Amino acid sequence: MSIIVQKFGGTSVADSVKIKNVANAVIREYKDGHHVVVVVSAMGHTTDYLVKLAQEISLKPNHREMDMLLSTGEQVTIALLAMAIQEAGVPAVSMNAAQVGIFTESVHTKARIVDIKTDKLHKNLNEGKIIVVAGFQGITKDGEITTLGRGGSDTSAVALAAALKADRCDIYTDVDGVYTTDPRIVPRARKLNEISYMEMLELARVGANVLHPRSVETAKQFNVPMRVRSSFKHDDLGTLVIGVDSMEIYRPVSGVAADLTQVRVAILKVPDAPGTAAKVFTTMANHSISVDMIIQSYAKEDNTNDIAFTVSESDFDQTLKILEQVRKDINASEIQIDKDIAKISIVGAGMIDRPGIAADMFSSLADSGINIKMISTSEIKISCLVKKEDAHNAVKAIHTKFNLDEKTETQVAV
Ligand code: ASP
Ligand code: MG
Repeated sequence: MSIIVQKFGGTSVADSVKIKNVANAVIREYKDGHHVVVVVSAMGHTTDYLVKLAQEISLKPNHREMDMLLSTGEQVTIALLAMAIQEAGVPAVSMNAAQVGIFTESVHTKARIVDIKTDKLHKNLNEGKIIVVAGFQGITKDGEITTLGRGGSDTSAVALAAALKADRCDIYTDVDGVYTTDPRIVPRARKLNEISYMEMLELARVGANVLHPRSVETAKQFNVPMRVRSSFKHDDLGTLVIGVDSMEIYRPVSGVAADLTQVRVAILKVPDAPGTAAKVFTTMANHSISVDMIIQSYAKEDNTNDIAFTVSESDFDQTLKILEQVRKDINASEIQIDKDIAKISIVGAGMIDRPGIAADMFSSLADSGINIKMISTSEIKISCLVKKEDAHNAVKAIHTKFNLDEKTETQVAV
């Protein structure tokens, strides 16, 4: 029998009426003859509320206690959803991460899943039950509660789908799919019918807030077909996220994204010697801080170079603290900060081996009078840092330049 994993985010389970609607959506798959595992987030803005409460008590709350606190949100939802399903006459059982056996590494507030036990899941499915699992949380081998990082329930769902070798993982959310860019910025943004894991990964990382990036990474690694679809329009198939080989269309650019939550950090006059960059980035990695857009300048006459990179705002305080020590150790002169940045990125699997894409992006920014502060590229992504105030105009200009705007009636007729 096929196994389907469904995931419902916070807005989809925000109150009891919505939870009953979710129960109906779940039961529909069950009655179609599938085994169903449902993963849910905390109700509405519960997690934000819990974070706020913690901050009223401590500006730097202990990470272990944060996990104890935040993991409660999902536990409320699973119990209520299981009740709603039972109320409709269908057997259901709720399980938290410890009960399932969703094991993570021992890092609080952003742990990675290392293993998922499936015996209890299979047992309950074979008994004809729908299983409702708490997203976002995990357990260490020592029995400590962890969480996967904000938005982590998507990753719980995909990891469960991979472990269960599920046929599909449907992520139900408050948007009806993945768009070429944020429709709030560009009203003529288009919904994509399909997108490759690679592209989605890049888009998720650069600020398209539809999916938790690690969920896409996991889907790609285990080849789990993911569907991003609307909690409110069940007949809409949304966007399918699949391997690039299975895709029908190759566009040079599939999406444009703006990330306004990054800070640029530069370490100036780093002595040009082997091991300095390694020292900087190993230290950051040891503190689980991801860095992006790394640029090292050519060595100058005084045999030093500058190393610049971006980190997310939430890691900024910790980054500064760590880097000050590293700066002394490697004998660099100064650390420079620029908070007035937005990272604008274009992503497309079809950009590989197609010249002129970068030139088109830069000229659309130039035509709009937007200055570029820093550029970085990967095989399927080009990112530019611009001033925060230029972010929306940059996205609009680039979206139009790459013909991503939804055609209006008149344009189609011409
Ligand atoms: N409740 C968690 C959050 O708000 C996890 C999730 O919703 O995916 O970040
Ligand atoms: Mg979410």
